[in-house]
Amino acid sequence: MSMYENVQHQFTKAADLMKLDEGVRKILSITNNEILVNFPVKMDDGRIEVFTGYRVQHNNALGPYKGGLRYHPTVDIDAARALATWMTWKTSLAGLPYGGGKGGIQIDPKKYSQTELERITRRFTFALGDNIGPELDIPAPDVNTNAQMMAWIADTYMQTKPTAERSMYKHVVTGKPVGSGGLEGRDRATGFGVVATIRQWAKLRNKNLKGMKYIVQGFGNVGYWAAHFMAKEGAILIAVQDASGTIYNANGIDPEKLNEHATPNLTGVKDFPGTEAIDPKTFFGLQCDIVIPAALGNQITGENAGEIKASLIAEGANGPVDVTGDAVLNEKGIDIIPDILCNSGGVIGSYFEWLQNRQGELWEMDDVINKLEAKLVKSFNQVVACADKYKTDWRTAAYIEAISRIDVAYKQRGIFP
Ligand code: GLU
Repeated sequence: MSMYENVQHQFTKAADLMKLDEGVRKILSITNNEILVNFPVKMDDGRIEVFTGYRVQHNNALGPYKGGLRYHPTVDIDAARALATWMTWKTSLAGLPYGGGKGGIQIDPKKYSQTELERITRRFTFALGDNIGPELDIPAPDVNTNAQMMAWIADTYMQTKPTAERSMYKHVVTGKPVGSGGLEGRDRATGFGVVATIRQWAKLRNKNLKGMKYIVQGFGNVGYWAAHFMAKEGAILIAVQDASGTIYNANGIDPEKLNEHATPNLTGVKDFPGTEAIDPKTFFGLQCDIVIPAALGNQITGENAGEIKASLIAEGANGPVDVTGDAVLNEKGIDIIPDILCNSGGVIGSYFEWLQNRQGELWEMDDVINKLEAKLVKSFNQVVACADKYKTDWRTAAYIEAISRIDVAYKQRGIFP
Protein backbone atom coordinates (compact mmCIF):
# COMPACT_ATOMS: atom_id res chain seq x y z
CA MET A 1 0.00 0.00 0.00
CA SER A 2 1.42 3.41 -0.93
CA MET A 3 1.90 6.11 1.72
CA TYR A 4 -0.98 8.15 0.32
CA GLU A 5 -3.30 5.12 0.32
CA ASN A 6 -2.40 4.66 3.98
CA VAL A 7 -3.38 8.23 4.84
CA GLN A 8 -6.61 7.90 2.88
CA HIS A 9 -7.43 4.73 4.74
CA GLN A 10 -6.79 6.34 8.13
CA PHE A 11 -8.86 9.39 7.11
CA THR A 12 -11.81 7.28 5.92
CA LYS A 13 -11.86 5.29 9.17
CA ALA A 14 -12.06 8.49 11.24
CA ALA A 15 -14.49 10.24 8.87
CA ASP A 16 -16.89 7.26 9.01
CA LEU A 17 -16.75 7.04 12.78
CA MET A 18 -17.36 10.76 13.33
CA LYS A 19 -19.97 10.85 10.53
CA LEU A 20 -18.13 13.66 8.77
CA ASP A 21 -20.16 15.92 6.49
CA GLU A 22 -19.99 14.60 2.90
CA GLY A 23 -18.87 17.93 1.42
CA VAL A 24 -16.02 18.44 3.88
CA ARG A 25 -15.03 14.81 3.32
CA LYS A 26 -14.71 15.51 -0.42
CA ILE A 27 -12.56 18.58 0.19
CA LEU A 28 -10.21 16.82 2.62
CA SER A 29 -9.92 13.69 0.48
CA ILE A 30 -7.83 15.52 -2.08
CA THR A 31 -4.95 18.00 -2.05
CA ASN A 32 -5.50 21.69 -2.93
CA ASN A 33 -2.36 22.31 -5.01
CA GLU A 34 0.48 20.17 -6.31
CA ILE A 35 3.58 21.96 -7.54
CA LEU A 36 6.27 20.12 -9.48
CA VAL A 37 9.38 21.98 -10.61
CA ASN A 38 12.28 20.79 -12.77
CA PHE A 39 15.28 23.04 -12.32
CA PRO A 40 18.90 23.03 -13.51
CA VAL A 41 21.93 23.30 -11.22
CA LYS A 42 25.61 23.56 -12.10
CA MET A 43 27.68 20.85 -10.37
CA ASP A 44 31.18 21.44 -8.96
CA ASP A 45 32.78 19.89 -12.06
CA GLY A 46 30.85 22.19 -14.42
CA ARG A 47 28.23 19.64 -15.54
CA ILE A 48 24.58 20.66 -15.49
CA GLU A 49 22.07 18.41 -13.71
CA VAL A 50 18.30 18.81 -13.70
CA PHE A 51 16.45 18.06 -10.46
CA THR A 52 12.77 17.47 -9.75
CA GLY A 53 11.28 19.17 -6.70
CA TYR A 54 7.80 18.91 -5.21
CA ARG A 55 5.59 20.97 -2.97
CA VAL A 56 2.12 19.68 -2.23
CA GLN A 57 -0.36 21.92 -0.41
CA HIS A 58 -3.12 19.78 1.07
CA ASN A 59 -5.43 22.16 2.90
CA ASN A 60 -5.36 25.71 4.30
CA ALA A 61 -8.72 26.09 6.00
CA LEU A 62 -7.03 26.93 9.32
CA GLY A 63 -4.12 29.02 8.01
CA PRO A 64 -1.05 28.99 5.73
CA TYR A 65 0.27 25.63 4.54
CA LYS A 66 3.01 24.36 6.84
CA GLY A 67 5.41 21.45 6.64
CA GLY A 68 8.90 20.28 5.86
CA LEU A 69 11.06 19.66 2.82
CA ARG A 70 12.85 16.33 2.58
CA TYR A 71 15.80 15.34 0.43
CA HIS A 72 15.56 11.61 -0.16
CA PRO A 73 15.37 9.12 -3.06
CA THR A 74 11.85 8.13 -1.91
CA VAL A 75 10.43 11.63 -2.46
CA ASP A 76 7.77 11.50 -5.18
CA ILE A 77 4.30 12.90 -5.70
CA ASP A 78 2.68 10.10 -3.68
CA ALA A 79 4.97 10.66 -0.69
CA ALA A 80 4.54 14.45 -0.89
CA ARG A 81 0.74 14.08 -0.96
CA ALA A 82 0.73 11.74 2.03
CA LEU A 83 3.13 13.86 4.06
CA ALA A 84 1.26 17.10 3.23
CA THR A 85 -2.01 15.52 4.35
CA TRP A 86 -0.46 14.37 7.63
CA MET A 87 0.67 17.95 8.21
CA THR A 88 -2.93 19.19 7.92
CA TRP A 89 -3.99 16.79 10.68
CA LYS A 90 -0.88 17.51 12.76
CA THR A 91 -1.20 21.29 12.79
CA SER A 92 -4.94 21.11 13.44
CA LEU A 93 -4.55 18.66 16.31
CA ALA A 94 -1.90 20.92 17.88
CA GLY A 95 -4.32 23.85 17.64
CA LEU A 96 -2.01 25.86 15.36
CA PRO A 97 -3.29 28.41 12.81
CA TYR A 98 -1.87 26.41 9.90
CA GLY A 99 -2.81 24.00 7.17
CA GLY A 100 -0.65 21.23 5.75
CA GLY A 101 2.04 21.14 3.07
CA LYS A 102 5.12 19.07 2.31
CA GLY A 103 7.70 18.71 -0.39
CA GLY A 104 11.25 17.97 -1.25
CA ILE A 105 13.65 16.75 -3.87
CA GLN A 106 14.24 13.19 -5.01
CA ILE A 107 17.97 13.03 -4.24
CA ASP A 108 20.41 11.28 -1.98
CA PRO A 109 22.15 14.31 -0.43
CA LYS A 110 25.16 12.17 0.53
CA LYS A 111 26.13 12.16 -3.16
CA TYR A 112 26.53 15.95 -3.34
CA SER A 113 29.07 18.36 -1.92
CA GLN A 114 28.08 21.15 0.45
CA THR A 115 28.43 23.76 -2.31
CA GLU A 116 26.26 21.68 -4.64
CA LEU A 117 23.62 21.25 -1.92
CA GLU A 118 23.62 25.00 -1.44
CA ARG A 119 23.02 25.65 -5.15
CA ILE A 120 20.37 22.89 -5.32
CA THR A 121 18.54 24.36 -2.32
CA ARG A 122 18.73 27.93 -3.57
CA ARG A 123 17.64 27.05 -7.09
CA PHE A 124 14.75 24.92 -5.76
CA THR A 125 13.61 27.90 -3.66
CA PHE A 126 13.83 30.16 -6.70
CA ALA A 127 11.84 27.65 -8.77
CA LEU A 128 9.09 27.53 -6.13
CA GLY A 129 8.98 31.33 -6.31
CA ASP A 130 5.86 32.82 -4.78
CA ASN A 131 4.22 29.44 -4.30
CA ILE A 132 5.75 29.69 -0.82
CA GLY A 133 5.62 32.72 1.47
CA PRO A 134 5.38 33.65 5.16
CA GLU A 135 1.60 33.94 5.04
CA LEU A 136 1.06 31.34 2.31
CA ASP A 137 3.22 28.26 2.71
CA ILE A 138 6.08 27.92 5.21
CA PRO A 139 8.61 25.09 4.72
CA ALA A 140 10.81 23.63 7.47
CA PRO A 141 13.39 20.86 7.90
CA ASP A 142 12.48 17.20 7.46
CA VAL A 143 14.46 14.06 6.55
CA ASN A 144 18.02 15.05 5.46
CA THR A 145 17.39 18.79 5.54
CA ASN A 146 18.76 21.03 8.28
CA ALA A 147 19.03 24.53 9.72
CA GLN A 148 21.75 25.54 7.25
CA MET A 149 19.48 24.70 4.32
CA MET A 150 16.64 26.68 5.89
CA ALA A 151 18.99 29.69 6.12
CA TRP A 152 19.71 29.34 2.37
CA ILE A 153 15.99 29.15 1.62
CA ALA A 154 15.25 32.28 3.70
CA ASP A 155 18.13 34.17 2.12
CA THR A 156 17.20 33.19 -1.45
CA TYR A 157 13.54 34.01 -0.97
CA MET A 158 14.39 37.38 0.60
CA GLN A 159 16.71 38.27 -2.31
CA THR A 160 13.72 38.07 -4.67
CA LYS A 161 11.90 40.86 -2.76
CA PRO A 162 12.33 44.64 -2.93
CA THR A 163 15.35 45.75 -0.86
CA ALA A 164 13.39 47.72 1.72
CA GLU A 165 11.04 44.82 2.44
CA ARG A 166 13.48 41.93 2.65
CA SER A 167 13.67 41.62 6.41
CA MET A 168 9.90 41.20 6.56
CA TYR A 169 10.14 37.79 4.92
CA LYS A 170 12.39 35.93 7.34
CA HIS A 171 9.51 33.71 8.48
CA VAL A 172 9.03 32.25 5.01
CA VAL A 173 10.77 29.23 6.51
CA THR A 174 11.25 27.85 10.05
CA GLY A 175 13.98 25.70 11.55
CA LYS A 176 16.61 28.34 10.73
CA PRO A 177 19.88 28.58 12.70
CA VAL A 178 19.51 30.62 15.89
CA GLY A 179 21.79 33.34 14.49
CA SER A 180 19.47 33.81 11.50
CA GLY A 181 16.09 34.15 13.11
CA GLY A 182 15.85 30.56 14.33
CA LEU A 183 14.28 29.58 17.64
CA GLU A 184 16.28 28.42 20.66
CA GLY A 185 15.27 24.78 21.03
CA ARG A 186 13.78 24.21 17.58
CA ASP A 187 16.56 21.66 16.95
CA ARG A 188 15.37 19.44 19.83
CA ALA A 189 11.66 20.24 19.66
CA THR A 190 10.57 17.08 17.83
CA GLY A 191 12.63 14.67 19.96
CA PHE A 192 11.63 16.48 23.14
CA GLY A 193 8.00 16.20 22.07
CA VAL A 194 8.31 12.48 21.41
CA VAL A 195 9.55 11.97 24.98
CA ALA A 196 6.99 14.39 26.45
CA THR A 197 4.20 12.25 24.95
CA ILE A 198 5.91 9.05 26.17
CA ARG A 199 5.95 10.56 29.69
CA GLN A 200 2.20 11.16 29.44
CA TRP A 201 1.73 7.57 28.33
CA ALA A 202 3.74 6.30 31.31
CA LYS A 203 1.61 8.41 33.65
CA LEU A 204 -1.61 7.10 32.10
CA ARG A 205 -0.47 3.49 32.30
CA ASN A 206 1.14 3.84 35.74
CA LYS A 207 4.58 2.92 34.47
CA ASN A 208 8.02 4.18 35.38
CA LEU A 209 10.33 5.00 32.47
CA LYS A 210 13.42 4.52 34.65
CA GLY A 211 15.11 1.28 33.61
CA MET A 212 12.77 0.67 30.67
CA LYS A 213 14.44 -0.66 27.54
CA TYR A 214 13.79 0.96 24.20
CA ILE A 215 14.97 0.87 20.59
CA VAL A 216 15.22 3.67 18.01
CA GLN A 217 15.03 3.42 14.24
CA GLY A 218 16.77 6.35 12.57
CA PHE A 219 19.42 8.43 14.31
CA GLY A 220 18.92 11.78 12.64
CA ASN A 221 17.61 14.86 14.40
CA VAL A 222 14.49 13.17 15.80
CA GLY A 223 16.11 9.86 16.83
CA TYR A 224 19.08 11.49 18.52
CA TRP A 225 17.12 14.07 20.51
CA ALA A 226 14.49 11.52 21.53
CA ALA A 227 17.30 9.29 22.87
CA HIS A 228 18.89 12.31 24.60
CA PHE A 229 15.65 13.02 26.49
CA MET A 230 14.93 9.32 27.16
CA ALA A 231 18.34 9.11 28.86
CA LYS A 232 17.25 11.90 31.20
CA GLU A 233 14.27 9.69 32.18
CA GLY A 234 16.67 6.85 32.99
CA ALA A 235 15.47 4.66 30.10
CA ILE A 236 18.01 2.34 28.44
CA LEU A 237 18.68 2.43 24.72
CA ILE A 238 19.50 -1.14 23.65
CA ALA A 239 19.47 -0.99 19.85
CA VAL A 240 19.56 1.52 17.02
CA GLN A 241 18.94 0.95 13.32
CA ASP A 242 19.65 3.26 10.43
CA ALA A 243 20.53 2.96 6.74
CA SER A 244 24.12 2.03 7.68
CA GLY A 245 23.24 -0.94 9.92
CA THR A 246 21.70 -2.20 13.17
CA ILE A 247 23.63 -2.07 16.45
CA TYR A 248 22.84 -3.73 19.77
CA ASN A 249 24.02 -3.74 23.37
CA ALA A 250 21.73 -5.19 26.05
CA ASN A 251 23.47 -3.10 28.71
CA GLY A 252 22.77 0.20 26.99
CA ILE A 253 24.11 2.54 24.33
CA ASP A 254 25.12 6.11 25.21
CA PRO A 255 23.14 8.43 22.87
CA GLU A 256 25.68 11.28 23.18
CA LYS A 257 28.66 9.14 22.22
CA LEU A 258 26.66 7.52 19.44
CA ASN A 259 25.78 10.96 18.10
CA GLU A 260 29.46 11.91 18.03
CA HIS A 261 30.16 8.71 16.10
CA ALA A 262 27.23 8.77 13.67
CA THR A 263 26.57 12.38 12.79
CA PRO A 264 29.71 14.37 11.83
CA ASN A 265 30.56 12.53 8.61
CA LEU A 266 27.09 11.11 8.04
CA THR A 267 28.59 7.67 8.62
CA GLY A 268 25.58 6.40 10.56
CA VAL A 269 25.48 4.10 13.58
CA LYS A 270 27.42 1.23 11.99
CA ASP A 271 30.61 0.11 13.79
CA PHE A 272 29.87 2.05 16.97
CA PRO A 273 32.38 0.68 19.53
CA GLY A 274 30.93 -1.51 22.27
CA THR A 275 27.96 -2.71 20.24
CA GLU A 276 27.42 -5.77 18.08
CA ALA A 277 26.00 -5.64 14.58
CA ILE A 278 22.79 -7.66 14.37
CA ASP A 279 20.58 -8.78 11.50
CA PRO A 280 18.39 -5.78 10.54
CA LYS A 281 15.39 -8.10 10.19
CA THR A 282 15.48 -8.94 13.92
CA PHE A 283 15.32 -5.27 15.01
CA PHE A 284 11.62 -4.72 15.66
CA GLY A 285 11.29 -8.10 17.38
CA LEU A 286 13.88 -7.28 20.07
CA GLN A 287 12.79 -7.70 23.69
CA CYS A 288 12.10 -4.14 24.87
CA ASP A 289 9.37 -1.90 26.31
CA ILE A 290 9.24 0.95 23.78
CA VAL A 291 9.90 1.23 20.05
CA ILE A 292 10.62 4.69 18.62
CA PRO A 293 10.54 4.62 14.82
CA ALA A 294 12.19 7.90 13.80
CA ALA A 295 13.15 7.28 10.18
CA LEU A 296 10.92 6.76 7.15
CA GLY A 297 7.35 5.63 6.46
CA ASN A 298 5.96 2.09 6.11
CA GLN A 299 8.54 0.41 8.36
CA ILE A 300 6.17 -1.57 10.61
CA THR A 301 3.82 -3.57 8.42
CA GLY A 302 1.62 -6.67 8.48
CA GLU A 303 4.84 -8.63 7.86
CA ASN A 304 6.78 -7.66 10.97
CA ALA A 305 4.23 -6.12 13.40
CA GLY A 306 3.48 -9.56 14.87
CA GLU A 307 7.09 -9.84 16.12
CA ILE A 308 6.93 -6.71 18.26
CA LYS A 309 7.18 -7.37 22.01
CA ALA A 310 7.16 -3.77 23.24
CA SER A 311 4.08 -2.29 24.89
CA LEU A 312 4.40 1.12 23.17
CA ILE A 313 5.20 2.42 19.70
CA ALA A 314 6.00 6.15 19.78
CA GLU A 315 5.92 7.42 16.20
CA GLY A 316 8.76 9.93 15.83
CA ALA A 317 8.64 9.43 12.05
CA ASN A 318 5.71 10.25 9.79
CA GLY A 319 3.71 7.18 8.80
CA PRO A 320 6.09 4.50 10.17
CA VAL A 321 3.24 2.02 10.72
CA ASP A 322 1.13 1.08 7.71
CA VAL A 323 -2.54 0.13 7.82
CA THR A 324 -1.93 -3.61 8.04
CA GLY A 325 0.73 -3.14 10.73
CA ASP A 326 -1.66 -0.90 12.65
CA ALA A 327 -4.35 -3.59 12.65
CA VAL A 328 -1.92 -6.20 14.02
CA LEU A 329 -0.66 -3.86 16.78
CA ASN A 330 -4.19 -2.87 17.79
CA GLU A 331 -5.18 -6.52 17.91
CA LYS A 332 -2.21 -7.26 20.19
CA GLY A 333 -3.16 -4.37 22.48
CA ILE A 334 0.08 -2.48 21.88
CA ASP A 335 -0.30 1.26 22.48
CA ILE A 336 0.61 3.61 19.62
CA ILE A 337 1.20 7.32 20.10
CA PRO A 338 0.37 8.35 16.52
CA ASP A 339 2.76 10.46 14.46
CA ILE A 340 0.46 13.47 14.20
CA LEU A 341 0.61 13.72 18.00
CA CYS A 342 3.95 12.13 18.88
CA ASN A 343 6.17 14.15 16.52
CA SER A 344 4.13 17.36 16.58
CA GLY A 345 6.70 19.06 18.82
CA GLY A 346 8.63 19.99 15.68
CA VAL A 347 5.90 21.97 14.01
CA ILE A 348 4.85 23.49 17.34
CA GLY A 349 8.46 24.72 17.68
CA SER A 350 8.19 26.05 14.14
CA TYR A 351 5.07 27.97 15.08
CA PHE A 352 6.93 29.58 17.98
CA GLU A 353 9.76 30.54 15.61
CA TRP A 354 7.28 32.04 13.13
CA LEU A 355 5.64 34.07 15.92
CA GLN A 356 9.04 35.18 17.19
CA ASN A 357 10.02 36.44 13.70
CA ARG A 358 6.66 38.06 13.07
CA GLN A 359 6.73 39.94 16.35
CA GLY A 360 10.45 40.73 16.32
CA GLU A 361 10.97 38.90 19.63
CA LEU A 362 13.62 36.54 20.97
CA TRP A 363 12.30 33.68 23.06
CA GLU A 364 14.39 31.80 25.59
CA MET A 365 14.97 28.06 25.68
CA ASP A 366 13.16 27.41 28.99
CA ASP A 367 10.17 29.33 27.81
CA VAL A 368 10.09 27.38 24.54
CA ILE A 369 10.34 24.00 26.26
CA ASN A 370 7.65 24.83 28.83
CA LYS A 371 5.22 26.13 26.23
CA LEU A 372 5.91 23.12 24.03
CA GLU A 373 5.26 20.66 26.81
CA ALA A 374 2.02 22.39 27.81
CA LYS A 375 0.69 22.12 24.25
CA LEU A 376 1.66 18.47 23.93
CA VAL A 377 0.10 17.49 27.25
CA LYS A 378 -3.12 19.18 26.20
CA SER A 379 -3.20 17.38 22.84
CA PHE A 380 -2.36 14.03 24.45
CA ASN A 381 -5.23 14.33 26.94
CA GLN A 382 -7.65 15.39 24.20
CA VAL A 383 -6.73 12.36 22.11
CA VAL A 384 -7.15 9.94 25.04
CA ALA A 385 -10.52 11.48 25.94
CA CYS A 386 -11.68 11.33 22.32
CA ALA A 387 -10.60 7.67 22.04
CA ASP A 388 -12.69 6.88 25.14
CA LYS A 389 -15.67 8.74 23.75
CA TYR A 390 -15.61 7.00 20.38
CA LYS A 391 -14.25 3.69 21.76
CA THR A 392 -11.47 3.74 19.20
CA ASP A 393 -7.68 3.69 18.95
CA TRP A 394 -5.53 6.78 19.57
CA ARG A 395 -4.70 7.28 15.90
CA THR A 396 -8.32 7.42 14.84
CA ALA A 397 -9.10 9.65 17.82
CA ALA A 398 -6.28 12.04 16.87
CA TYR A 399 -7.73 12.22 13.35
CA ILE A 400 -11.23 12.88 14.69
CA GLU A 401 -9.93 15.75 16.84
CA ALA A 402 -7.97 17.23 13.93
CA ILE A 403 -10.73 16.84 11.34
CA SER A 404 -13.39 18.28 13.70
CA ARG A 405 -11.56 21.60 13.91
CA ILE A 406 -11.35 21.90 10.14
CA ASP A 407 -14.98 20.86 9.80
CA VAL A 408 -15.99 23.68 12.16
CA ALA A 409 -14.01 26.22 10.10
CA TYR A 410 -15.79 25.17 6.91
CA LYS A 411 -19.18 25.25 8.62
CA GLN A 412 -18.55 28.75 9.94
CA ARG A 413 -17.14 30.26 6.77
CA GLY A 414 -19.00 28.36 4.08
CA ILE A 415 -17.71 27.73 0.59
CA PHE A 416 -16.86 30.65 -1.70
CA PRO A 417 -18.67 32.02 -3.70
N1 GLU B 1 9.07 18.15 9.11
C1 GLU B 1 8.48 18.25 10.41
C2 GLU B 1 7.20 17.44 10.48
O1 GLU B 1 7.02 16.50 9.74
C3 GLU B 1 8.32 19.70 10.86
C4 GLU B 1 7.41 20.53 10.01
C5 GLU B 1 7.43 22.01 10.38
O2 GLU B 1 8.07 22.36 11.33
O3 GLU B 1 6.79 22.76 9.65
O4 GLU B 1 6.37 17.66 11.31
